[in-house]
Amino acid sequence: MGMMDSMQYLQDTESTRAKRLQMVEYQIRRRDIHDEKVLRIMEELPRHVFIPEANRSEAYMDQPVSIGLGQTISQPYIVALMTEKLAVEPEHTVLEIGTGCGYQTAILARLPAQKVYTIEVLEDLAQKARKILTHLGIDNVEFHTGDGRLGWPEDRQFDRILVAAASEDLPEKLLAQLKDGGKMVIPIGEPISQRLMLLTRQGDHINEELLCHCRFVRLVRT
Ligand code: SAH
Repeated sequence: MGMMDSMQYLQDTESTRAKRLQMVEYQIRRRDIHDEKVLRIMEELPRHVFIPEANRSEAYMDQPVSIGLGQTISQPYIVALMTEKLAVEPEHTVLEIGTGCGYQTAILARLPAQKVYTIEVLEDLAQKARKILTHLGIDNVEFHTGDGRLGWPEDRQFDRILVAAASEDLPEKLLAQLKDGGKMVIPIGEPISQRLMLLTRQGDHINEELLCHCRFVRLVRT
């Protein structure tokens, strides 16, 4: 059975909807995420569809979940926090590094952003994410397979950049693709002590705000 065939079984049922509403209420709203757009999208978007069958029963749990190939989908609260702090407006172009299963990509696309450009280093994950987004009717996303540390392959600048894997440094090429006034959310630091940062570019100055301590998979160098 091909992937598209098997996906027809990934229906959104009463049970998955109920778990999702609970996830948003207890894990997100009551932890001080108040952006109604973010809350509504997370109530509507079927998170379990993005997670491989082996771990699908964990889709609405308060934790990161394995998506295969040693990678994880971030904990729902962290996705909500990064999305809220990025403050995406409908006219914005957004660069995302680390497509993974495509869940965060779908949220950014539906906020909506004008367009989401997403880079994933693992071809297999990129292909699966693309299929799921197509299946959900999301068409304002461009996919690229490659090293996100190098930024988008064309010469282009973005209003917002979201990095979903941790780096010890701030990748220079990503910073160069952030517009003046633009914002970037990125986990920075070593594996055991990462800090989720909100960076705002003001000319040549970068304003830094610590959002929380966190633990992401590594942003690999190729
Ligand atoms: N937002 C994703 C999180 C995936 S975890 C989700 O919702 O599923 C981080 C992802 O970053 C992994 O899929 C990993 O393969 C990818 N990644 C790691 N290093 C990368 C790099 N240098 N360039 C692009 N993607 C990278």
